[in-house]
Parts: sequence; structure tokens; C-alpha cells
Amino acid sequence: MNLAHERLLTLCGDLKLAAVSDAAHRLAQEASAAEWSYLDFLERVLRAEATQRQERSRSMLVRTAGFPVVKRLEDFDFAFAGANKKQFTELSSLAFIERGENVVLLGPSGVGKTHLALALGLKAAQSGYKVRFHTAADLMREIGTARRQERYSTMFRASVRMPRLLIIDEFGYMPLDKAAAHDLFQVVAKRYEYGSLIVTSNLNFGQWDQTLAGDSALAAALLDRLLHHAHVIPLQGESYRLKDKRKAGLIERRTAAKAAD
Ligand code: ADP
Ligand code: MG
Repeated sequence: MNLAHERLLTLCGDLKLAAVSDAAHRLAQEASAAEWSYLDFLERVLRAEATQRQERSRSMLVRTAGFPVVKRLEDFDFAFAGANKKQFTELSSLAFIERGENVVLLGPSGVGKTHLALALGLKAAQSGYKVRFHTAADLMREIGTARRQERYSTMFRASVRMPRLLIIDEFGYMPLDKAAAHDLFQVVAKRYEYGSLIVTSNLNFGQWDQTLAGDSALAAALLDRLLHHAHVIPLQGESYRLKDKRKAGLIERRTAAKAAD
């Protein structure tokens, strides 16, 4: 390494231009072979830096979204779930996030609600949106703990307001007490002002008050906000989890259908 190159590396280190120090040498050679102008060369060097920063920030967005596993739309069997692939292709353009619309995925256990929510979330994070994934139970627990520790507003701002896309999975699996039901209402009401929500639930809307401490007025107010600009997508069919077992003759269809209730 010559002295000029060493000085360049030091400068890049000081200015935190990691990609410039990697790319400068190679691009300089290309520049002289292809006789780029000085400005062309400078633009390409800076573009290398910008591209690397964007890739890093997007992989950081995926890491910090809280996805329990990686799921992709490409791996989803739409026919099996009786789902409209075109609708998901449209949703995966992420225009719904730009328009501040919600997506509500409904259906019994195992039909792919979480898979689809995660796949849209991954797409959004990879496209540069800040995404946060929670189960309803975890989110309510976190909010409750934050309140007891007197850091409710900080927590609420970071976890509920800030993400461009908030995913709340498994709404309705656990009945919420009065305080938690009120917290969930606050979450939906705040998102109504700030940005998109994806919610998954095994309950029909008519049953939502059951999980919201029996408060039908609260359920109606929550649904009003959630559904105002929403794509409501019912998924049908049988549990994908039980598909292979059923194929192998380990369980009967009837049992599977019951388990999915
Ligand atoms: P739900 O959230 O509706 O209970 P999940 O999304 O957790 O169901 O699905 C259960 C498992 O089955 C997951 O591993 C998921 O990836 C897979 N799965 C469900 N439906 C499909 C499908 N239609 N095509 C491919 N995999 C599916
Ligand atoms: Mg699920």
C-alpha cells in the first residue's frame, strides 16, 4: 500500500466513508481505463458509499423489526389458503403504507395469517420502512410494564408511534383485562393518526368485545378506527400446520377442522 492510499484510508476512516475506502482503488482503475470525467468518478465513488449505507440501514431495519422468523410471499401457497394472490402482490407494492391504510387478516389457526403479516413486514423493512412486529399479548404486557416503570410515553412513542408499519399479531388469542383493552384502543387510535397497522385475528369482528374485557362500546370505537381505511382479508381453509399430518393419514379432516376453531 502506498502512502497516498494510506492517507486516503485514514481520511475515509475519519469521515466514516467505509465504502469509499473499499471502492476508490477499483473505481480509479476503471476511471482511467474508461476515461471517465473527474465528476463521473466522484459520482460513482459517492454512489458506492450511498448504496452501502442504504443496504446497511435496511438490514438494520429487518433486524430491529422483531420478526420471530423470516417468511416470504414467494413461499406462500395462495390457492391452499383460498387467498387472492393478486391482492397480496398489490399490497407488496407497499402503497398501503404510503396511504396510511391498514391490513386486517382474519381466519382460524394455521391458515397463514402470521406468515402473510411477516412477509409484508419483511418487504416493508427491506424497502426502507421502519417496521415493528408484536403479538397483541406482548405489546400489552410491554405497555403495562412501561407504565408501572413510569416510562409509558417514551415506550409508546418508540414502539407505537414511530414505526411506519406496526404489526399486531394474534389479536383475540388472549382476553385482555380492562386496562389492557384500553391500552389497545390507544394503540389503534394513535396509529389511526400516524400510520399503517397490520392486525391478525382468529375472531370475527362481532367477537372482538369478548377479548376487550366485554366492553362493546370500546370494541366498536376501536373497530371504527381500525377499519376506516383497511383491507380486510379473510383467509379460509384448513390449518397448513396439519396438512402434512393429514396427508400421512395421522389425523382426520374433522379433527383438523376442530383444532382450527
Ligand atoms: P396462523 O398465523 O394463521 O395461525 P401461520 O402463519 O403461523 O398461521 O402458519 C402456520 C405455519 O404454516 C407457518 O409455518 C406458515 O409458514 C405455514 N403456512 C400457513 N399457510 C401457508 C400457505 N398457504 N402456504 C405456505 N405455508 C403456509
Ligand atoms: Mg399466527
